[in-house]
Amino acid sequence: MLTATRLGAKILQSGGSALDAVIATISTLEDHPLFNAGYGSLLNSEGNVEMDASVMSAEPVSDAMPKRGRKSQQVAEDDYNVTAGAVAVISRVQHPVVLARAVMERSPHILMAGVGAERFARSCGIQLVKPAAMISARARERWRARQQQQAESAAEAAARASMGMEHGTVGAIAIDARGGIAAATSTGGVPGKLFGRVGDSAIIGAGTFAHGLGAASATGQGEAIILTSLCREAVLALAEGSPDAIAREAIGEMIDATGAEAGVIILDRRGRIGYAHNAASMQVARFDPAGGLRHLWLPPIGAVRRQ
Ligand code: ASP
Repeated sequence: MLTATRLGAKILQSGGSALDAVIATISTLEDHPLFNAGYGSLLNSEGNVEMDASVMSAEPVSDAMPKRGRKSQQVAEDDYNVTAGAVAVISRVQHPVVLARAVMERSPHILMAGVGAERFARSCGIQLVKPAAMISARARERWRARQQQQAESAAEAAARASMGMEHGTVGAIAIDARGGIAAATSTGGVPGKLFGRVGDSAIIGAGTFAHGLGAASATGQGEAIILTSLCREAVLALAEGSPDAIAREAIGEMIDATGAEAGVIILDRRGRIGYAHNAASMQVARFDPAGGLRHLWLPPIGAVRRQ
C-alpha cells in the first residue's frame, strides 16, 4: 500500500493530475496478489475471476473558481467537468481500472461489461490475457477452502460467516494542485459470489464517486453499498461537514439500513481526508504535504452501533 501510494504521491508532487495518481496507485495494487483486485482477485462460485472497476474525475473549469459571494464549501455543477468510466465482470484484463479509464475517455458510455468490454479493451490496444493468468495460488486455495466449508453443516458455516468477510478491494482518492479530484476502485468482488454478479465497485455513486465537493471509494458488501448509494451520499454530504464526520455518518447509516459490513475513504476539496469502517479490519495509506506518507490500521466504528 505504501509503494502504491508513494507512486501516486510522486505524480501529484510533480504536477500530475489526481486522475493519473489514482490510476497509477490502483494499477499497482491490482498487480499484487495480496489484494482482491486484478491478479489475486477472489474467485466466483464457479472458480473463475470476474473483476469490477470504476473511475470518476471532477476537473475544475479553469475560469470558474473562485466565485465571489460563495460559501467555501458551495460548488456549482458548472464549476467542474465530471466524467466517469466503469467495467464489470471482466476476466481477461490485467488492469481493470485502466480499462475503466478507457471506457471513460474513449467510449460514449460509462459502464461496459463482460466480453463486450474485453473486445473494447482490445480495440483500445489493451492486451488481453488468459483468464487463468489472473488467478493466484492464494485465491485458488481460498476458493477450495470455501467449497469445503459449504459442504459442512449449515450451523458450522453460519458460525464461520459471523467471523467476518474476506475483503481486500482497493480504492484510491486524490486531489491535485489545480483542484482536480478523482476516485477509483477495483475488486474481484465478494467471496462466493454467483457467476455474473456485479458489485458496487462497478457502480458510479455506489463504490466510487467524485464531484467538485470531493471524492470517495468504498469497500465491503456491495449489495448494501449499492442500496445506500454510499459514495455519492457521502460526497454530497461534504457540503455540511468534515470528511471524518461524514465517513462515520455514512457507515453508521449503512449499518442502520442494512446491517452489512463496509468501509469508505473520503476527501474534500480542501484536501482533508476521512475514513471509517465496521469490518474486522481496514488499512489505509495516505499522503499529504504536511504529514507525508503514512500507513494506518483503522479500528472499526461498528462495535457500539451494532449492539
Ligand atoms: N465491494 C466489493 C464488492 O461487493 C467487495 C469488497 O469491497 O470487498 O464487490
